[in-house]
Amino acid sequence: MDLLNTLVDKGLRRELPTREEALAVLATSDDDLLDVVTAAGKVRRHWFGRRVKLNYLVNLKSGLCPEDCSYCSQRLGSKADILKYTWLKPDEASQAAAAGLAGGAKRVCLVASGRGPTDRDVDRVSETIKAIKEQNEDVEVCACLGLLSDGQAERLRAAGADAYNHNLNTSESTYGDITTTHTYADRVDTVRKAHAAGLSACSGLIAGMGESDEDLVDVVFSLRELDPDSVPVNFLIPFEGTPLAKEWNLTPQRCLRILAMVRFVCPDVEVRIAGGREVHLRSLQPLALHLANSIFLGDYLTSEGQAGKADLEMIADAGFEVEGAGEVTLPAHRADVAHGCGSHAEAGCGSHAEGGCGSHAGGGVCGTAGGPAVAEPRTDLVAVRRRGAGTDLAPNA
Ligand code: SF4
Repeated sequence: MDLLNTLVDKGLRRELPTREEALAVLATSDDDLLDVVTAAGKVRRHWFGRRVKLNYLVNLKSGLCPEDCSYCSQRLGSKADILKYTWLKPDEASQAAAAGLAGGAKRVCLVASGRGPTDRDVDRVSETIKAIKEQNEDVEVCACLGLLSDGQAERLRAAGADAYNHNLNTSESTYGDITTTHTYADRVDTVRKAHAAGLSACSGLIAGMGESDEDLVDVVFSLRELDPDSVPVNFLIPFEGTPLAKEWNLTPQRCLRILAMVRFVCPDVEVRIAGGREVHLRSLQPLALHLANSIFLGDYLTSEGQAGKADLEMIADAGFEVEGAGEVTLPAHRADVAHGCGSHAEAGCGSHAEGGCGSHAGGGVCGTAGGPAVAEPRTDLVAVRRRGAGTDLAPNA
């Protein structure tokens, strides 16, 4: 296919595809799906080999958020039966992080619900970062605490944070449909603050909220412009008790097309499969490793993932290898400008998204575009997290 040859050539040169090319990837048919994966896989392997970076989420503070992000189980008015707890103490968070690191993770993502941190919260998280780094010198730490005020990114950086995650989630034009308590511009501002403070920026999206193909291309092009080091791609988990509970729009094939499009637009960036991986990719997860070079190990913020052992087996069975602590994630031209950790950032975090929005009437949607597959509700695959941080039970790592 000429389209795919062109996209591979551009990906290897780090050249931006046109919007039309990105839209065409989303519109490919199921018959062409393996060709799309093969093409995007060439770009992935060129920049990242067969390495898979593992990241581990620690939910420092869960639920009871005053913001109204429609996709989020922790939102204002959420009826989702999730764990609710206030700040973990530094030693508790460090203990939770240790489980993920023992399981092979090289990055720990410290996430807290809320609009943004107070200065006291930044102190707490700074103590937590120090506690984690005392135990694990080489670990990368990404903070995900919501909107940042002036000076907070600098303080987190000084405390040892390597990265900061804050997702754009969806296109600027539909942002107001999913959240009313803050704006798209607020989110862009926080990503810029993190970047300016010397933190590696992590910013991504949520697919499956009822958005159009144009919305998806818009947000990915906006991300390319912001130039984060890592882009988490969340697939909406439509939690019962949230406004988007009925938004089952994704098929495994659709998820692969979205990941391929992100890879072509952001060829040399750490593309991470984030929340919703097990729920929406299901048995096609191994194919997605040909597109993304990073995943979360174990559980998400408020939902459970597949067993950490199953993640490791899947990576090995698919012919990939877990990226070691001593390996630099990003290609040299990016690692040189990023600091410290050389690669950078989450899922679940950033939007605090485990999956995301859909009240906007986004026209053509997921699932049927480009092929016969139709999305079916799979509530049977959504399990609220009942173990790990905030509980007495061992984490899944
Ligand atoms: S995504 Fe973050 S800010 Fe929005 S409701 Fe959830 S926890 Fe609150």
